[in-house]
Amino acid sequence: MLYLSTRGDPARKHFCEILLEGLAPDGGLYLPERYPQVDAATLAKWRTLPYADLAFEILSLYIDDIPAEDLRAICRKTYTEEVFGTRAIVPLRKLHDGLLLEGLSNGPTLAFKDMAMQLLGNLFEYELARRGEELNILGATSGDTGSAAEYAMRGKKGVRVFMTSPEGRMSPFQQAQMFSLQDANIHNIAIAGVFDDCQDIVKAVSNDLDFKRRWRIGTVNSINWARLVAQVVYYFAGYFQAHSDKVSFTVPSGNFGNICAGHVARMMGLPIDQLVLATNENDVLDEFFRTGVYRVRAAADTHETSSPSMDISKASNFERFVFDLLGRDGARVKSLFGEELQRSGRFDLGAEPAFREVKARYGFASGKSTHADRIATIRSVSERSGTVIDTHTADGVKVAREHVRPGIPMIVLETALPIKFAQSIVEALGREPERPAKFNGIEALPRRVTVMPADAEAVKAFIVRHCA
Ligand SMILES: *Cc1c(COP(=O)(O)O)cnc(C)c1O
Repeated sequence: MLYLSTRGDPARKHFCEILLEGLAPDGGLYLPERYPQVDAATLAKWRTLPYADLAFEILSLYIDDIPAEDLRAICRKTYTEEVFGTRAIVPLRKLHDGLLLEGLSNGPTLAFKDMAMQLLGNLFEYELARRGEELNILGATSGDTGSAAEYAMRGKKGVRVFMTSPEGRMSPFQQAQMFSLQDANIHNIAIAGVFDDCQDIVKAVSNDLDFKRRWRIGTVNSINWARLVAQVVYYFAGYFQAHSDKVSFTVPSGNFGNICAGHVARMMGLPIDQLVLATNENDVLDEFFRTGVYRVRAAADTHETSSPSMDISKASNFERFVFDLLGRDGARVKSLFGEELQRSGRFDLGAEPAFREVKARYGFASGKSTHADRIATIRSVSERSGTVIDTHTADGVKVAREHVRPGIPMIVLETALPIKFAQSIVEALGREPERPAKFNGIEALPRRVTVMPADAEAVKAFIVRHCA
């Protein structure tokens, strides 16, 4: 399988070449040349596989430059009951009225990002050892991504993580999760500033090409294809557990990474009826799926909400779907996401024939949810099914209810556990959410974090000091 860029560059690459890269050199995102097709006989064969072996079957359709035995070993090392808490890895349970909940949040950091990041850690370690190289991952986080990256990379050979976060702005639980890590290759940098300052620092360091090359700076952001393809697996696993000919999924969405994996699964032939995208008050994507207008928000128009991992101003993975929607016309995508967004901050596909296919051919639907909706949904799901869901998952359930069709199970992806967002649970239910035993007392553990000013040069000096 070869990979191409969504912006039309004629170059083609193998999986391991794009594994450690971010954007394609032309600024586009990588996608496979075609989607491998899965027929009914293959689905029947895969139905009973353990999760790790299902992951191997799917990944091996996309990866032809890692020997099969090695890839299988990587999958089996990644998706274990020990790391993900259950034998099913992504257990499915009934909520109410045709709604099902697929648990993607039982990994080390209690959010669905572990599903892909844990695999990425093992793939990075494998590929870096094979090349005899090292990588310094520099990132900015306001919560879930940073901790998922750190728990995936801790103790891995050849990899160091330098994770910036805005000082004092993450939830106490999230701070404790990250700062209590004592691994020598994990470095927490608390920046005296806001999340945008952290992102600016990462950009400034990455734009210093000499520094980037010399110190082998890399990232693990959500546009990485390896993360996306790892997420395809749980759509299959959810489908198999629902025991129905067809299912629909509702996905609490921010950067369009999670639901883009659903789109890939559907393009492979998995019988998915609807792919329902749920946003919070930051409704960039709901607006697109309703109207065809994609309008990037300014920082000042980006709301801080109680489902913070969906607080986005633009959706970094969305370009992948638009590329498919427009018949894989790289020149067109280049002009839309390059010049047009830069000039006017928006584009409009509403009047194009292709836009009608968003629903009819690609199965997409969408909706949005607000803080009041989240609180009411957490309360009603708890009352009707005895299950406590987190705020992001609540956005999903709220929108899923508006799209359920008789006879077709609607699977809502659970993207985090409630303990990560305890304040809203208390607001909804008047009590603290349950805390998994392994997190008892983490707030009291010794912390490993360096506070620094919002200054890219200072961060560079820190990296150099810790690479010796
Ligand atoms: C990252 C995240 C999301 C959004 O996922 P995308 O892939 O960016 O659409 C939703 N919920 C939680 C809890 C997350 O951490």
